[in-house]
Amino acid sequence: MNLLDLLQSSPPLFIGVASVIGLLVGSFLNVVIHRLPKMMELSWQQQCAELRGEETAQTEPYNLLVPRSACPLCHHAISAWENIPVASFLLLRGKCHGCGAGISPRYPAVEALSGILCGFAAYHFGFGLTAAAAMLLIWALLTLTAIDFDTQLLPDDITLPLIWSGLFFNLNGAFTSLHDAFLGAVFGYLLLWAVYWLFKLATGKEGMGYGDFKLLAALGAWLGWQMLPLIIMLSSVVGALAGITLIVAFKHGRNIPIPFGPYLAGGGLIALFWGQTLTHLPFPAL
Ligand SMILES: [Zn+2]
Repeated sequence: MNLLDLLQSSPPLFIGVASVIGLLVGSFLNVVIHRLPKMMELSWQQQCAELRGEETAQTEPYNLLVPRSACPLCHHAISAWENIPVASFLLLRGKCHGCGAGISPRYPAVEALSGILCGFAAYHFGFGLTAAAAMLLIWALLTLTAIDFDTQLLPDDITLPLIWSGLFFNLNGAFTSLHDAFLGAVFGYLLLWAVYWLFKLATGKEGMGYGDFKLLAALGAWLGWQMLPLIIMLSSVVGALAGITLIVAFKHGRNIPIPFGPYLAGGGLIALFWGQTLTHLPFPAL
C-alpha cells in the first residue's frame, strides 16, 4: 500500500497530515507576510530611481528565501529548533533566544490557523484534489488578510495567480462549473468596481482599492458567481461590526481607511465551507 492509498483509506490520517502541512506552510506564510510588502517597496524604489535616471545601488538580495530569518532586533539567526510552528513559540515563551525581546503572537496564530483550517478542509472535502486546492486558497486568504491589515495592500503577486488558479481547478469542477467560475471572476471584479465608482462619484472619496476587486474576482473564480452576494453580505456585516467597534472602542478616525480585504477573505472562507448550505437555506437568505 503506498502513501496515497493509505491517506485515502484513513480519513483521520489524512486530516492529521493536512494539519501538519498547514502548520509548516503557516510558518512560511509568516515569511511572505513580513517580506512581500518590503520586496514590493524595494522594487518600487528601484523603478523610481531608474525613471529618474539614477544609478541603482547594488543592494543585498532580499526575497522570500534570502536572507535567513533572524530577530529584527539582535539579528540572532533563527535555528531549526526555534522554527517549529507554534511549539517553538511556546518553548521560547514568546521571547527571542538571543535578546529576550517579545515575539509577536501573530506568528504562532497564523501557523495555528493555517493548521486548523487545513485540517478542517481535509475533514470537510475528504481525500482528493479539492481538499488540496482548498488548502491553497486558505493559505492565499490568510496571507492577504495579514498583509492588508499591515499595509492596506492586496499584492497582485497573490490576487492575480489566485484568479487563474481558481479557473484552473474548476476546469474539472472542483468547486463549481467552469462556466460559473468564469462568470464569478468577471462579475466579482465588476461588482466592486461599480461600487467603487458610485461611492467615488457620490462622496469624492475612495472607499476601497483595486486589490479588493481582484480579490472578489478570485473568490468568484474559485466558488462561482452564485457565491458573490453571500460573500459581499458576510464581509459587509463583519466589516461594519468591526468598523463600528474600532471607531467606538479605539477612537479610530472615521476617515482612516479600514481594510476591506480581510472581511472579503473571511466571507470567502465561510462561503468555501458552507456557501452551498447557506445559499440553499429554506428562508430567503439573500
Ligand atoms: Zn533578538
